[in-house]
Amino acid sequence: MASTLADRLSRLVKTMRGQARITETNVQEMLREVRMALLEADVALPVVRDFVARVKDKALGAEVVGSLTPGQALVGIVHKELAATMGELDEKGQLKAGASDINLHTQPPAVILMAGLQGAGKTTTTAKLAKHLIEKRKKKVLTVSGDVYRPAAIEQLKTVTAQAGAEWFPSTPDQKPRDIALAALDHARRHYFDVLLVDTAGRLAIDEALMAEIRELHATLKPVETLFVVDAMQGQDAINTAKAFKEALPLTGVVLTKLDGDSRGGAALSVRAITGVPIKFAGVSEKIDGLEAFNAERHAGRVLG
Ligand code: GDP
Repeated sequence: MASTLADRLSRLVKTMRGQARITETNVQEMLREVRMALLEADVALPVVRDFVARVKDKALGAEVVGSLTPGQALVGIVHKELAATMGELDEKGQLKAGASDINLHTQPPAVILMAGLQGAGKTTTTAKLAKHLIEKRKKKVLTVSGDVYRPAAIEQLKTVTAQAGAEWFPSTPDQKPRDIALAALDHARRHYFDVLLVDTAGRLAIDEALMAEIRELHATLKPVETLFVVDAMQGQDAINTAKAFKEALPLTGVVLTKLDGDSRGGAALSVRAITGVPIKFAGVSEKIDGLEAFNAERHAGRVLG
């Protein structure tokens, strides 16, 4: 098994024992370890390069203060920079304490469009979000599936929506996704729903027809949130998927699913860097309550290993 970044850095810290300052050689060695470990954690190469360059700037200028050894100071710099890369910063450049929740600042019904590849966890996450919005935000929530290619997907959404305690709007495979969307929106308006969650079709790989379809749905629904759902286990592939969805749609947030798996979660760095939008939630189990606000600080610890 590959060493974690924490292992690698702690070995380095040992070799630095007794040193009073961080030398340029220490920084170079550390950066090499960081680069290797991030690649092993499946972070995309351009993202790794960029990250390493930022850590280098910070480390070379760093003053070692208090009781920290230079080695510990370096580990601290890496951890902080990891959290800053995956999380959201305030105007002072500090990591924001709370995660970004769903934006509902719009005339109801607030539409949330779910985008992502098949199997990423869109349907499951739609229901998890419905439950979150009902319980934590006290909203009246409607779900609808635009996946006209897989009748089983429509049924799946019906089942999980019931588990979430939300309402489900029926759709059938012979309808056009745009017509489904318009009918659901009309129903949501007439019945005073606060939120309409729209699950969409996914393919196993990026597909132009699928992208055109979801763009049309976006134009029709004018969602306040367009969430890119991505499987944390996807590793390096997450970068291509993220690029394609970012080019197709004005994304507003990311949900990183399957963080209960054994991946180091390096996809979080890649996806945050590529989409430029906040990772709002993390999926942590198959169950309906397996959704957490994404915590960049904690996730940095996981990527470090
Ligand atoms: P979709 O095709 O994007 O709608 O994906 P689904 O919602 O059907 O999810 C695909 C599979 O991943 C299902 O077996 C889900 O139970 C599972 N899944 C979704 N999210 C998570 C998660 O956060 N953790 C785990 N362990 N499984 C998940």
